[in-house]
Amino acid sequence: MNITSKIWNSPSDYLQSRTPDHPVHFFAPSALQAQAKRFLGGFNGLVTYAVKANPEQAVLSNLLAAGVTAFDVASPNEIRLLRELAPHAVLHYNNPVRSKSEIEFAHKADVKSYSIDGFREFEKIEGIIPPKGVEISVRIKLPVSGAVYDFGAKFGATPEKAIELLRRVKSAGYIPSITFHPGTQCEDPQAWEAYITEAAAVARAADVTIKRLNVGGGFPAKTANGTPDLEHFFNVIDEAVTKAFPIRPALVCEPGRAMVAQSFTHATRVKSINDNGDVYLNDGIYGGLSEFPVLDVQRSYTVFPPIGGQRSDTKTMAQVFGPTCDSLDVLPNKLALPTDIADDDYVIFQNMGAYVKGVTTDFNGYGQLETVTVLSL
Ligand SMILES: *Cc1c(COP(=O)(O)O)cnc(C)c1O
Repeated sequence: MNITSKIWNSPSDYLQSRTPDHPVHFFAPSALQAQAKRFLGGFNGLVTYAVKANPEQAVLSNLLAAGVTAFDVASPNEIRLLRELAPHAVLHYNNPVRSKSEIEFAHKADVKSYSIDGFREFEKIEGIIPPKGVEISVRIKLPVSGAVYDFGAKFGATPEKAIELLRRVKSAGYIPSITFHPGTQCEDPQAWEAYITEAAAVARAADVTIKRLNVGGGFPAKTANGTPDLEHFFNVIDEAVTKAFPIRPALVCEPGRAMVAQSFTHATRVKSINDNGDVYLNDGIYGGLSEFPVLDVQRSYTVFPPIGGQRSDTKTMAQVFGPTCDSLDVLPNKLALPTDIADDDYVIFQNMGAYVKGVTTDFNGYGQLETVTVLSL
C-alpha cells in the first residue's frame, strides 16, 4: 500500500507544505467528472474520449466512473491501456494511418470502428479485418477557419475522394460512416455546421446512407478569454444534422482537450531571475509548456511565494525561459508577472489538463512531472 498517497485540499496547500522543486500537475477529479457529465448530458449522441489528450490512468478511471463508455484510441499502446483498465469499453481507432501490424493488433483486441482517408489505408484494413459488424468512417477535410491549427493539413480526404471511398466501404460490406475533426480549440461553431453540410453532401453524392457521423474533437477549452458555451456548440451540431440529412445518422463526438483541460492546473517554479528581469522556470517547451509555441491560446496564470500569500498586483512584462540549455526553450509571448516575483515562487497555469502529460520529455535531465490529486483547483 502506498501510505504517502494523499488527496490535498488545493494546489497551494500542497505547494506550501512540500515546496516541490519539480513541476506539479494538479488534478481535481470532481472537475473532470463534472465536465464529463456536461458532455454526456448535453451532446445528443455517443461521447467518446480522445485518449491522447491525457492518458493518465486517474483520468481514464474518473471518466469511466462518470459514465463515459467509449474511447478514441490512436495506437496499440492506447488500446492496451484501455483493455487493461476497462476490457469492455468501446474503442474507436480513429488515427487514419496505421501499419499492418497495428491493424492486426487492433483486430485481435476486438476494435470494431476505424477511420480512413485514403484507398491504400482502406485496402490494408480490407486485407486484415473481415467486414461483418465493422464500421469504417471516411474522414473528410475542408479548409476551415476557427481552430488554432488546421488538422486538415495532415488528415482527411477531399469531398470528391470521400465520395469514392464511401462507396468502396459500403460495397466491401463494412458499415459506412463519416468523420471529421475541425481542428483543436475550435472556437467557431460554424466550423461544425460547414463540416456537417459537407458530410451530408458527400453521402448524398455517393448514394450511401451513413450509420454514424462522428463530429470529432476540437471543442474549445476554457482560456483566459472566457469559458466556452459548449451547449451552444451541441445545439448548432444537432440542428445542422437535422437540417442536412434526410435520414439522421447517429452522432459521435470525441473531445480530448475540452474534456480534460480544466481539471488540471500546472505548477512551475522560478529557478532564477537574471539581471535583465528575464525569468527562468523549472519547466518549458520540452515539458509541460510544449503547446505554448504552437497554439496561440491565452492562458491564465497566478504567482505566489512558497510561504503563501500574494505578490504585488503591479505587473511587468517578462521574457520567460524554460530550464534547459537549449535556446529554443523560451515562451513565445512575454508574461505579465508581479514586479516583486522572486526565486522559488510558483507560477501556476490554469486549464492545463490536455497535451501535457503525454508530451513531457526528460530532455537535459528535466521532466520530473508529478501528478497530485486535489479536492479543488
Ligand atoms: C486528437 C484527436 C481528437 C481530440 O482532439 P481535441 O482537439 O483534443 O478535442 C479527437 N479525434 C481524433 C481523431 C484526434 O486525433
